[in-house]
Amino acid sequence: MTETVLETRHLKKVYNYNTPNAFEALHDINFEVHKGDFVAIMGPSGSGKSTFINNISTIDLPTSGKVFINGKEVRTMSSNEIGRFRYQNLGFIFQDFNLLDTHTMYENIAMPLSLAHVNKTEIEQRVAVLAKQMDVEHLLKKYPNECSGGQRQRAAICRALINHPRIIVADEPTGNLDSANSAELMKILQRLNNEEGVTIVMVTHDPLITSYSSRLVYIKDGEIQTVLEREGLSQDDYFQKIVEINSAESREILQQ
Ligand code: ADP
Repeated sequence: MTETVLETRHLKKVYNYNTPNAFEALHDINFEVHKGDFVAIMGPSGSGKSTFINNISTIDLPTSGKVFINGKEVRTMSSNEIGRFRYQNLGFIFQDFNLLDTHTMYENIAMPLSLAHVNKTEIEQRVAVLAKQMDVEHLLKKYPNECSGGQRQRAAICRALINHPRIIVADEPTGNLDSANSAELMKILQRLNNEEGVTIVMVTHDPLITSYSSRLVYIKDGEIQTVLEREGLSQDDYFQKIVEINSAESREILQQ
């Protein structure tokens, strides 16, 4: 059986809990990600996608229910342990790249290893390998604001991968990229997933971006409404089904 790397049981998130403004953003989510999955999370604005991704990646803690990452329940860890665990197990890619402008591309990519006091030679070797793979090795001395969006996002991928995380968590990773760079980024993520078995969980609003994944999880009003497996579908047929799910939702909103 495939190894489960991420699991939620009855995950519930209430903002402003125990106040008159309490708002239940996630209701009762049961969800599993297996090693080597590439999951795309979609849903209308305000449906709970960010809340969900934050709760499954230790950024936030559920109000009730359980989140397991690599079999470890996040809630049972101290905040120090969570920090270490996050660094050892998860790589993050964000819409706005989140690179530090005061640091070179090299320093940004090396950051997770520098923080963990890995020795300099090993850091140099690991950065060199990834930078070559992601085609940013000629940019390592530059600062992020001297590089294009696509180059910055490729450096952010290097940073996310530098520690060999079990899971990549990506929140709208193509949100600030043009279509050519978006397609290139998705091919990189797809290759990491297919060839290196990296597990990916990604939020996006774009059906074309989702068509690179192997499973769509569609969230609506804080619940999983639909799950679509790509299975044997061609990317084009999978894309058509993704569009149908999204447009059925839009039609429903129009009819309200
Ligand atoms: P999405 O990412 O799908 O746009 P979010 O997860 O950001 O949705 O938000 C889900 C719901 O939770 C929305 O109704 C939003 O207004 C509410 N929400 C999000 N963050 C907070 C917060 N910090 N405090 C109160 N309500 C919040």
